[in-house]
Amino acid sequence: MLTTAVKDNAYTLALENFDTAADALDLSQDIREMIKYPERILTVTVPVRMDDGHIHRFEAYRVQHSSVRGPAKGGIRYHPQVTLDEVKALATWMTWKCAVVNIPFGGAKGGVTCDPKHMSQGELERMTRRYTSAILPLIGPEQDIPAPDVYTNPQTMAWIMDTYSMTKGYPIPGVVTGKPISLGGSLGRNEATGRGVFYTIQCACEHLGMTLRGATVAVQGFGNAGSIAAQLLHEAGAKIVAVSDSTSCIYNRNGLNIPELIHMKLLTGHVEKFPESEPIDPSELLALKCDILVPAALENAVHADNAGAVRAKIVAEAANGPLTPAADRILESRGAFVIPDILCNAGGVTVSYFEWVQDEQHLFWEAQDVYDRLERVMKTAFRDVLKIRTERKVPMRIAANMLGIGRVADAVQIRGIYP
Ligand code: NAD
Repeated sequence: MLTTAVKDNAYTLALENFDTAADALDLSQDIREMIKYPERILTVTVPVRMDDGHIHRFEAYRVQHSSVRGPAKGGIRYHPQVTLDEVKALATWMTWKCAVVNIPFGGAKGGVTCDPKHMSQGELERMTRRYTSAILPLIGPEQDIPAPDVYTNPQTMAWIMDTYSMTKGYPIPGVVTGKPISLGGSLGRNEATGRGVFYTIQCACEHLGMTLRGATVAVQGFGNAGSIAAQLLHEAGAKIVAVSDSTSCIYNRNGLNIPELIHMKLLTGHVEKFPESEPIDPSELLALKCDILVPAALENAVHADNAGAVRAKIVAEAANGPLTPAADRILESRGAFVIPDILCNAGGVTVSYFEWVQDEQHLFWEAQDVYDRLERVMKTAFRDVLKIRTERKVPMRIAANMLGIGRVADAVQIRGIYP
């Protein structure tokens, strides 16, 4: 999580958001007991022989929050600050997110507490394979399907798919999504999260009577989600005036050349010293006078102490959990339009679902087909959430949680309790 607000525990915040939506839905105590907490939590030790010969022990997790509506689904994060509580929060959000976009998955998440930036490819591969074998009893195409998250990528998914398949004795591409295309990945999956963020921003602009052409945008976090969202906004005529990554933050009031910035980030690994930009303090990015703010890094970026400085009209949560409930309240009172994470960044899991469907059917779709279906799913979900917001006069986050939690509650009610 971001160091600016280490005092906010993501899981506590996830539970707080659950309670608010459950109260608004008037859910019974019995239903709350059945859907609020993770179904399974696995903590594993991952010993890895490092390049210098010594053995390092990594702590790692896989949490299945819900399988009520389908197999558990969620990414795997490699980061030095991964904790069990963070993984539990991310798994919980996955459950509500899959329900918001109405795909037949539950929620899960995995994480390894490690510093991937200081590990070689060999070390990363050995760690990934050992972690996969440690969580093997939980995962599978019908049980629990991992995907990329922060500092994991298609290569990581390929190692997981290979390890799992070798253990079972035959190829099982559907065990992970976000795979390379050559292994059964879906066209459009790599850019799906950013594309989904873009569609929801389009919807928000339409709702607010704003035009994207000429709108000013600040993007915190320039990885998979942030850079693709920036690219599509740039193509739509918006001006991306500021961008940050974990080491620096750059600004150009006339707009940054995003395709060139993506190229440079790929080559150098950072956005620092990009031509025709000036460095600014990362805290300034959040406070810039701009139309759209896209937090696309980690949890708790905007909290009680800095939310008052945010001036954007739209805050599009590409990241998971970037606003604390306190920040939500401050932004709401100021009239900012927040597109909540479980709606805004649901494009990733939606195309993961498409990938899983294609793997199961051994039949692959064209990119345009993926984009069209994704657009339909995202825009329908946005409309559904907006309808609840309007009818119940609640903020977008509560409306999204009401939609997601309500669908899970309906499903558990129909399934009943075993035995
Ligand atoms: P990524 O590893 O591709 O990129 C993360 C980016 O954030 C990097 O550019 C990194 O430098 C930057 N970053 C890290 N700490 C930062 C800080 N303190 N300030 C500014 N930038 C910082 O990861 P990603 O997949 O783009 O994930 C980003 C967020 O989006 C996460 O919250 C993730 O859970 C969420 N998300 C990702 C997907 C997906 O499909 N990749 C789907 C849904 C949600």
